[in-house]
Amino acid sequence: MSLSESHYAVIVVGGRPSGATLATRLAQGGLRVLLLDRATFPSLPAVSSPIIYACTMALLDEIGAPEAEYAHNTPKIRKLVSESRDYYRAIATIPEDRGRAYAYAIDRARFDHALWRHAANTHGVTALEGFGVTDLLWEGDRVIGVEGMRHGSRKAERFYADLIVGADGRWSLVARKVDAPLYNVDDSPTTSLYYAYWRNLQPYDLDEPLMVAHSTLDGLGYLIMDSADGTAAVVCEGHAETIERFSQGAGAPEALYEALLQNAPRVWARLQGAERVTSVRGLKHVPNYYRQPYGKGWALVGDAVHHKDPLGGQGVYDAVFSAKALAEQYLAHKRGQLDYESAMQGYKARLEEETLPVYYNTLAARANLAPSDPFQRLLGRYLVESPEVIEALARVPARMGDITQVMTTRHIVLSIAKGAARDVRRALTGELSPSAVPPLPIERAQGVQETNSYQQRLGCLGWLLALPAIMMFGGLAALRRK
Ligand SMILES: Cc1cc2nc3c(=O)[nH]c(=O)nc-3n(C[C@H](O)[C@H](O)[C@H](O)COP(=O)(O)OP(=O)(O)OC[C@H]3O[C@@H](n4cnc5c(N)ncnc54)[C@H](O)[C@@H]3O)c2cc1C
Repeated sequence: MSLSESHYAVIVVGGRPSGATLATRLAQGGLRVLLLDRATFPSLPAVSSPIIYACTMALLDEIGAPEAEYAHNTPKIRKLVSESRDYYRAIATIPEDRGRAYAYAIDRARFDHALWRHAANTHGVTALEGFGVTDLLWEGDRVIGVEGMRHGSRKAERFYADLIVGADGRWSLVARKVDAPLYNVDDSPTTSLYYAYWRNLQPYDLDEPLMVAHSTLDGLGYLIMDSADGTAAVVCEGHAETIERFSQGAGAPEALYEALLQNAPRVWARLQGAERVTSVRGLKHVPNYYRQPYGKGWALVGDAVHHKDPLGGQGVYDAVFSAKALAEQYLAHKRGQLDYESAMQGYKARLEEETLPVYYNTLAARANLAPSDPFQRLLGRYLVESPEVIEALARVPARMGDITQVMTTRHIVLSIAKGAARDVRRALTGELSPSAVPPLPIERAQGVQETNSYQQRLGCLGWLLALPAIMMFGGLAALRRK
């Protein structure tokens, strides 16, 4: 191959959500793009579980990526359930966003393959899979190309471009080679997580595809997401030191994962008779950072430029958004509308504007994984018994609202007042709580009755006992004022 043939406008290293969509956008904008990935597709990405919301699909619509392919045989999830032990649960309906009122727990191998194929079929993209980039090529302090090898070959090949983009994930080779500085690094205690896919789970009491989040209130959170081809992803996440406590004496990730699952009786109950269909995968000490997103002749997108705890399931959206922002800014530069520095400064500003609030909310949300005290549980129950709070909370992962809109002093005070009043009424009438956690069908078959949980009943009883004391102190205070 001659030098002229191997010169492109842009080389994109990494061909999953950020890289494939970036290559597609740049080529749709008229540039000649080389898309490289050391993987051959279909294949699983680095560790990742699978939830995507309508906001991500809307970005994929913009480049014509076919939903029928990336979400083939994948159920539409319309409800999110959040259980806190058997203490309370909330059921949220996913709000409609540009015609979609659902999320998917996609099969990442299928999803990534569909995006790769879409890019490869776009006029202007040359897609080379099984090609691992091993080094960058420099002219002075400017990156001008990449060197690497095809799978199974020992012959190094070189390709040149005006811009080299690292879309090569959280351990980005491009970022390391250009020594991109890290910033906004969070160094508070990190989380770890483990997951696998299962088949034939015991049904949940709501008979439809779901994402069920389950907190054991002892520092661990679980997710069961109905995914492609009748499988379900079962994830456990917690602060790294909490997870490590379960690993004592259990060397293999399988044993640790099983110990974690057994810690959540309702999760474990759903796995009775189920078959694990993948190996257990995991990530210890999930990193949280931003990297300087551009320099002379290079830029970074996706996890290479920004990585955060996957708690909120926002990684793919952020990856695809960063690709859009970089493509639009760089195309503006190529059309002569912006000089390189202004275009790239614009990219950095757009990236941060879109992702920083979610980043800080995600870091704050990790606190929910910490063990909670009885007062926090009571407050949590009162909040989830409020339909406005649930509706507002459901908008957060869909990027249609912010958690700060939910956690206002007004909302909290009102929720406590209404919740306390409801508890007292319930204690007097014995009526069932709207947030009570009903037994799973398998538990029902074993004779477990539907009832307010032990802790909810304690809450009601507490208020009933407190009521005379409150009235007495109120009366005394009124007498004193007179
Ligand atoms: C445990 C976990 C759970 C997650 N769950 C979710 C979720 O539910 N929803 C969500 O939206 N996000 C989730 N994420 C985040 C999401 O997986 C990532 O944000 C997303 O995959 C980033 O896409 P990317 O294209 O930037 O990088 P990646 O998907 O990491 O792709 C990088 C590509 O670069 C290639 N590459 C790397 N180095 C080279 C090289 N030297 N030469 C050639 N190719 C190379 C790799 O082969 C790979 O194909 C999760 C992440 C983790 C860790």
